Amino acid sequence: TFSLGPRISTWNEDRKVWLEENPQFPSYVKGKPRILLVTGSQPAPCANAIGDHYLLKALKNKIDYCRIHGIEILYNMAHLDKEMAGFWAKLPLLRRLMLSHPDVEWIWWMDSDALFTDMVFDIPIAKYKDYNMVIHGFPDLLFNQKSWIALNTGSFLFRNCQWSLDLLDAWAPMGPKGPMRDEAGKVLTAYLKGRPDFEADDQSALIYLLLSQKQWLSKVFVENSFYLHGFWESVVDRYEEMIEKNHAGMGDERWPLVTHFVGCKPCAKFGDYSVERCLRGMERAFNFADNQVLNLYGFRHKGLVSPNLKRIRNETAAPLVNVDQFDIRHAAAHHT
Ligand code: UDP
Ligand code: MN
Repeated sequence: TFSLGPRISTWNEDRKVWLEENPQFPSYVKGKPRILLVTGSQPAPCANAIGDHYLLKALKNKIDYCRIHGIEILYNMAHLDKEMAGFWAKLPLLRRLMLSHPDVEWIWWMDSDALFTDMVFDIPIAKYKDYNMVIHGFPDLLFNQKSWIALNTGSFLFRNCQWSLDLLDAWAPMGPKGPMRDEAGKVLTAYLKGRPDFEADDQSALIYLLLSQKQWLSKVFVENSFYLHGFWESVVDRYEEMIEKNHAGMGDERWPLVTHFVGCKPCAKFGDYSVERCLRGMERAFNFADNQVLNLYGFRHKGLVSPNLKRIRNETAAPLVNVDQFDIRHAAAHHT
């Protein structure tokens, strides 16, 4: 049977000893757990050349958010396990990263096609101190409807601990390419509401696992008080309205933390939506977020689909006044 690697059963103890022996690599800094945001894309160029440009923009967007929030970032383009290609590639990667970075407390997986759209919102990490996984979703869709979109695996957090290694082991067996993945796809489609007939995917498999083996649930925080994942279709046409009525830092439907382009495949040949519509949405999401970044420098985009900028403040001989007022990190410190 398939396994992600040799069985590890004493990770909590081993990691604790390691952390004690390596005080120069603490897993908490100033009382805050260290977070590593992990994202990536396939090793080869996109089939659709414009897709590479949007992968770059999506990465720039994540670098900006992470810099502002003191989160480290890792971009992976390697396939660590040939059998676990495609949407399953994150599983062997997450395991490898936990074991190779014992000083990281949380790993935050984020899909390449998800963009941060609230550069101010800080995730309430202290709230999750008794949990090992944080994922966006809806309990009603999960428990009552067994919906295949009850949770979204495009953006979730995993604590570096034994529980997470065990969950990965339980989650992985439906992943290997070929008959296993194909057969598992049929099981998932029969079990989950609304699921189209296709090979097993990581999201359906996680929902199935959590519903069929209830022991995991007590450590999973199903988050919906903000958009850890936000479905793009219900977001991208509302940015102007948000700018008019709300402000960054809310993170929820009023100003979504994340806009995720589920079903869009600008990098590939086929997606569920037209490439034009997806790219326009991505351009809007990117510029909406980039305006929040450019604010510190005194610029913003001319419009949400324009790469061109306009100045929003005059040059000044007293630049530090602007730093105090417009650096998001300072604003966040003032509010808390
Ligand atoms: N991914 C990767 N390597 C690959 C294929 C996918 O790192 O070879 C990542 C990429 O970040 C992508 C995520 O896995 O967004 C989910 O893959 P999927 O094929 O489901 O793409 P999506 O639904 O996000 O378009
Ligand atoms: Mn995605």
